[in-house]
Amino acid sequence: MDDLHPQTRAVHPPLIRPVGSTPLATPVYQGHLFSFEDSEAMAAAFEGPAQAVGGQDGAHSAFFYSRMGNPTVRTFEKAVADLEGGADALATGSGMGAVNAVFMALLRSGDHVVAQRSLYGGTYALLHDLAERWDVTVTHVSGDDPDEVRAALRPRTRLLYLETITNPTTQVVDLPVPASVAREAGVPTVVDNTFATPVLCRPLEHGADIVIHSATKYIGGHSDLLAGVVVCADPAVHHRIWSHSTELGACTDPTTASLAVRGLATLPLRMARHCENALALARRLAEHPAVERVHYPGLESHPQHAIARRLLDGGFGGVLSVELTGGREAGRRFAESLRLVRMAPSLGGTKTLVMHPASTSHRRLDARALAAAGIGEGTVRLAVGIEHVDDLWNDLEQALAAADRRE
Ligand SMILES: *Cc1c(COP(=O)(O)O)cnc(C)c1O
Repeated sequence: MDDLHPQTRAVHPPLIRPVGSTPLATPVYQGHLFSFEDSEAMAAAFEGPAQAVGGQDGAHSAFFYSRMGNPTVRTFEKAVADLEGGADALATGSGMGAVNAVFMALLRSGDHVVAQRSLYGGTYALLHDLAERWDVTVTHVSGDDPDEVRAALRPRTRLLYLETITNPTTQVVDLPVPASVAREAGVPTVVDNTFATPVLCRPLEHGADIVIHSATKYIGGHSDLLAGVVVCADPAVHHRIWSHSTELGACTDPTTASLAVRGLATLPLRMARHCENALALARRLAEHPAVERVHYPGLESHPQHAIARRLLDGGFGGVLSVELTGGREAGRRFAESLRLVRMAPSLGGTKTLVMHPASTSHRRLDARALAAAGIGEGTVRLAVGIEHVDDLWNDLEQALAAADRRE
């Protein structure tokens, strides 16, 4: 290097690789390019996603361009694949990026999808957009009735799309039942497992073929990143989705992936607290005179409580919804009267959040349209965080009193 000019030496600093010790935290490989010693190794890298962090074993193991694979992102993908019991995973820039990667890879124009009726809003909108653009037809089913799923299947049905726990009514689908109907017909089942996380449910164990997460929620866990991930039971399906998603460009970046890996470390601890807090609050809310009904799979009164007990391990999730007796005005006043609990959409972070759909996200719907979406005028959704449950209860109690007070 000594005979080179400063301009050249400035561009080529030494690369320091730890030898004799290993970093404990996940290194962030921010660079998007990797260089090769020979053309054969570079050609091999074009064949598929790098399989080993460090790129030492296997024919297609080298990293070369981060849209196709990056060591930090691969760490996140392999960690989630392991927790879900899948063959491999693919990280995306957001949960919707993951949904898109799967739809784009598996659907062609003229294909048909069977999907649960109550879906995440973005997924619902995407399916209907695909219908308009590319003539992909959709049949919605409740998810509870295997005969309904069987009747919905057509020769060009390419996937069955379900969510483990739905929003905001917390419906729990008995995954093995619809998944086995789809499997008999050779149709893969895709499950959005965002609300349950692999801590509570691993859909691949219950007959699903592909699992999707918005890692923005519980996996990231701190409301400071946007990411998604697709986990596949079959490596060939993973390769197909990977290949398409490198064209779609919906990949995530290494810094986000490192934050998501950090989130995974505390995911089981956080989920335990989310579930414990949500159950305690659901029970106390159900007893309160200002509350007409609580939707939470952990309550015996929940229509799928028995299914939830079978399907979910160690808890029933962090989201619950509450119907207030005072209707729309009470819902709005309740959400606005909370002090510790913050008014915000989304879920999965450490802080408890509240939302009154009728006056915010669903404000354009009248009472009938709301009811069709399974939402009442006085329904509020709580995404329960990991604070001390008594502080949360005190806040909810004072807001219930304020909501009940007519001025
Ligand atoms: C938030 C969410 C998504 C979309 O995820 P983004 O990270 O916001 O793109 C998909 N499915 C469910 C169930 C969600 O809650």
